[in-house]
Amino acid sequence: MVQELYHFIGGKRTKGRSGKFGDVFWPMTGEVAAKVPLADASEVWDAVQNAKAAQIGWAATNPQRRARVMMKFVDLLNRDMETLALVLAKEHGKTIPDAKGDIQRGLEVAEFAIGAPHLMKGEYTEGAGPGIDIYSLRQPLGVVAGITPFNFPAMIPMWKFAPAIVCGNAFVLKPSERDPSVPLMLAELMMEAGLPPGILNVINGDKTAVDALLDDPEIAGIGFVGSTPIAEYVYKRGTANGKRVHAFGGAKNHMIIMPDADMDQAVDALIGAGYGSAGERCMAVSVAVPVGQATADALVAKLIPKVESLKIGPSTSNDADFGPLVTKAHLQKVRDYVDLGIKEGAKLKVDGRSFKMQGYENGFYMGGCLFDNVTSDMRIYKEEIFGPVLSVVRAKDYAEALRLPNEHEYGNGVAIFTRDGDAARDFTAKVNVGMVGVNVPIPVPLAYYTFGGWKRSMFGDLNQHGPDAMRFYTRTKTVTSRWPSGTKEGAEFSIPTMK
Ligand code: NAD
Repeated sequence: MVQELYHFIGGKRTKGRSGKFGDVFWPMTGEVAAKVPLADASEVWDAVQNAKAAQIGWAATNPQRRARVMMKFVDLLNRDMETLALVLAKEHGKTIPDAKGDIQRGLEVAEFAIGAPHLMKGEYTEGAGPGIDIYSLRQPLGVVAGITPFNFPAMIPMWKFAPAIVCGNAFVLKPSERDPSVPLMLAELMMEAGLPPGILNVINGDKTAVDALLDDPEIAGIGFVGSTPIAEYVYKRGTANGKRVHAFGGAKNHMIIMPDADMDQAVDALIGAGYGSAGERCMAVSVAVPVGQATADALVAKLIPKVESLKIGPSTSNDADFGPLVTKAHLQKVRDYVDLGIKEGAKLKVDGRSFKMQGYENGFYMGGCLFDNVTSDMRIYKEEIFGPVLSVVRAKDYAEALRLPNEHEYGNGVAIFTRDGDAARDFTAKVNVGMVGVNVPIPVPLAYYTFGGWKRSMFGDLNQHGPDAMRFYTRTKTVTSRWPSGTKEGAEFSIPTMK
């Protein structure tokens, strides 16, 4: 029985009325598990109107009360962790421990958002002039929207709505239409935590819904995460309509392996960061850059048996390293990239294209692939593959290794593996990438730092989570006040100064 999903508007499950639906698969079996309604512009308008009506009262609720809703929400996430992780794993394809990590990384941003009353505090200058005080306040933007990708269906929605809501905004979430169930469950948990109806709405849909959000004059800000072409589109159209937008895009994350690196540690790091979640992470390492021929030969020799013995399984298996890809179309796209790499002249050392999962023959599975001798002019190097495919690009020296991530169009994450503090220090200073790991393969900053790439991995200014999120979801008002103490100064026609 295929379940029909819904929107969540004004605190209620709301049946889709556009008549359009998308298929939601369980990638581990290949079956269609649900139909998700794809909203038309009028349904988006309903969600925005509900948000607008609720926002004024919510902004007037004292910040500590708003934070308490988030405290309760964190408790509920812990209570329901197993259920959420199972639904997430089935719809996305990642394993259950990885699904728990997805929820946990969102939960940590909700925990950080509990500190909003402190983070929203303004500044005050007493006696800036005769009888004059100046102070600044941070006020919510109003109604804001989040448009999120398939690969972290719990974490990224929470990165968006948790700080936005505690700051006093009302939120319209447009999650990925490929795995919408967990975002819907999160909205219900927020209601259970005490959120008033209308403050968090979930509208399911595709480009039509996104365009309606981008053009809606009531929406003051948009946070987007997804592929680079769509991020750029959302940024341009949203800002052209006068909205505050930050849009996070795709990636091609390099890991540099210096000749002095602990090779076993580097190989383990590459295997986890390259193939975990079937490579469907914006912080996955997809390019290994060994420095010098001897390092490259040793690295590839150690990688081959590890990639060959990766354990692939259904999302519900207890011991799988990774599960299936998200859809059949995406699986085909990744396979096509491997075919292309061979045509381009790269050496395919491990070929996972024909992997079939016994008992799950219709699932969207693929084995790990490893390319050696990839060069920077190949499309498999330039483009984001987003699958279990690792490319080895051999660099003759450190200068060439540094140049590769610096010249790549993406700049999300990067790592260096070395025992040499001097090399690590030079690398972190000079590399043209937003998030850097030193002997850490996936340097996703914790919730109290900010997350964001450089170059075409990010459009806009402020990052996600950490203090930047509070700045993104608020605007500053500065008040200059005077309480005259009896002196009359008369009209002043020149600009006031503090001479
Ligand atoms: P996607 O760009 O296909 O979709 C993202 C969102 O945009 C979805 O909600 C989708 O419905 C919407 N969308 C899709 N096509 C659209 C169109 N033509 N017009 C308007 N809206 C559209 O991305 P995805 O496949 O869901 O996610 C994977 C991508 O996200 C990868 O490129 C990955 O690197 C990136 N990502 C980036 C970060 C980051 O923080 N930089 C984090 C996670 C994922």
